[in-house]
Amino acid sequence: MTRYAARGVERLIRGSLAGIEPYEPIVPLEVLSERCGVPVDKLIKLDGNENPYGCSPRVRRALANYHFYHIYPDPLHREIIGPLEEYAGVSREHIVAGSGSDELIDLVLRLFLEPGDKVINCVPTFGMYPFSTSVCGGRTVTVPRSDTYEVDIKGVKSAIDKRTKVIFIASPNNPSGNATSQSNILKLVETGVVVVVDEAYYEFCGQTVAPLVPKYSNLVVLRSFSKWAGLGGLRAGYGIFSANIAELIRRIKMPYNVNAAAMIAVKESLADEDYLQTKVKAIVAERKRLSDKLKKQGVLSPLPSQANFILFRVVKGNAWKIKQELDSKGIFVRYFATPSLKNMLRISVGKPEHTDALIEALANYKGG
Ligand SMILES: *Cc1c(COP(=O)(O)O)cnc(C)c1O
Repeated sequence: MTRYAARGVERLIRGSLAGIEPYEPIVPLEVLSERCGVPVDKLIKLDGNENPYGCSPRVRRALANYHFYHIYPDPLHREIIGPLEEYAGVSREHIVAGSGSDELIDLVLRLFLEPGDKVINCVPTFGMYPFSTSVCGGRTVTVPRSDTYEVDIKGVKSAIDKRTKVIFIASPNNPSGNATSQSNILKLVETGVVVVVDEAYYEFCGQTVAPLVPKYSNLVVLRSFSKWAGLGGLRAGYGIFSANIAELIRRIKMPYNVNAAAMIAVKESLADEDYLQTKVKAIVAERKRLSDKLKKQGVLSPLPSQANFILFRVVKGNAWKIKQELDSKGIFVRYFATPSLKNMLRISVGKPEHTDALIEALANYKGG
């Protein structure tokens, strides 16, 4: 009887979702700790591009002292819109905040996709683009990046047809770490398709197309507080859109999409920008040190990066085995089972002592 019922209800599931692949999520600290037998506070987590310095101390203090958690948050997030427009350098009619930039990826696709519409994805890149495309009933069209992970502008243009609605460009790209030039982005904008430039790592790179958004109605820029401001656990991001698109995104979003804690955290982070920028600087300096030291060691060869992580090619041994070896020592790096990232590892930039621990762990690695 129950089997019948289950089969019955399965027939009602949207066809495009019946075989959907799950997004590969982060493994929680407690689970990692249990697997390798290293206590949580001794783990070296370099697999999620998280900020090793954590959030601003002002965030922690303000959250502890807040007295209105029983009141619904402001759907128009008025408390943070002023600081956001000042920080992003565009006026408020262009800005919508979200529960992480992940939510904004989903909202853009909800707004533009009819079932069967196409989204261009320049791989290897962030896994949320094809994931949200499937959830929204769209089809992902894959255009591989070059050997050096540059976007294939010609390839993207020739992949566009009348069903194409959106192109995603992460800049700097995750996991390759390289940015796409403004001139190349403008070549894509000229096609008239919606071009979403995901600037989750903007602060580590300094290059942005945000000021161009008011000029090009089909250009969208996404930003996040997860990486530079250390708020991954609270979920806060924002999108910069032409004013008409921003208004529609506001209408279709969940009213209370940015919760009270995230709103406080954003406000305090922006009020403490100088402090956070000193940590960004430390991470950028450590990026160079991590790159130089590992290069010298000769097990991993770094690719140039403008983000808070580096993609390494394994030159001695096997990426999966190195990952296993590091796992067992409580050091976590990101391995990809994708052909285009064969024998590579992505390592987030940590504190100097994390780099040192990694160097030491790899010192006796024989390869093979
Ligand atoms: C980490 C990451 C995000 C996620 O941002 P949230 O604000 O945490 O949702 C978005 N885009 C890229 C490319 C990322 O690597």
